[in-house]
Order: sequence, then structure tokens, then C-alpha cells
Amino acid sequence: MKLSTEWMKDGTCRSIPVADKDKWFFSQDPATIYKDRARAKQVCHICPVVKQCGVYAILNKESTDSHSRNIVWGAMMYRDRLEHYRDAKRHGLWEQIVEDSGVVL
Ligand code: SF4
Repeated sequence: MKLSTEWMKDGTCRSIPVADKDKWFFSQDPATIYKDRARAKQVCHICPVVKQCGVYAILNKESTDSHSRNIVWGAMMYRDRLEHYRDAKRHGLWEQIVEDSGVVL
């Protein structure tokens, strides 16, 4: 399956300071991780490509290992993405979500 990455250039996270992006999206500090990830999700919620980002992360199996599961893609950490995927599959909506995202070339 070939996936588009064209949407990435429009990501809101590309225009925030690198230090904030690193802390909010990637920091693994247990003392602040949930607060940081909540901030990352706020950034995603105003992002014009949030749907593409979430679908891409699921299809491309991004951040699925134990060290990166808390990284946010499309306003979702790994467990959120898994839940989203399973819910969509269960309700027969996944294929339409993928098609609407335009991520699959
Ligand atoms: S949805 Fe979030 S992680 Fe994805 S491109 Fe937008 S801001 Fe970045």
C-alpha cells in the first residue's frame, strides 16, 4: 500500500517552536507526560490535516513500539489510535474514513 506524505507539510506542529514540539509530542518525562500530551492534542485539534495524520499513523504503524506509544499522531496516542481503528472497523466505517482521508495513493 502506497501512502501519501504530501499532507505533512500542512501540519500545525510544523509551525510551533521545536522545543515545544519536542516536549509536547515526544518527551517521555513521567512527571509531565500527560500534561504534555494534552497540549500536543490541542495542537492537533486545530490542525487542518488531523484526519490524514491519524489515518496515516494507523496504516503505517507509526509509534507502535513500547518506547514510542505515547507519541501523538492525529490527536491520538497509540491506544487512542487502536481504539479509533477498532471502533471504525466494528461499525463498518474504516474503509470510508481511509478513502475520505486521501492518504492511500
Ligand atoms: S495532526 Fe497533530 S501530529 Fe499530525 S500533523 Fe497535525 S499537528 Fe502534527
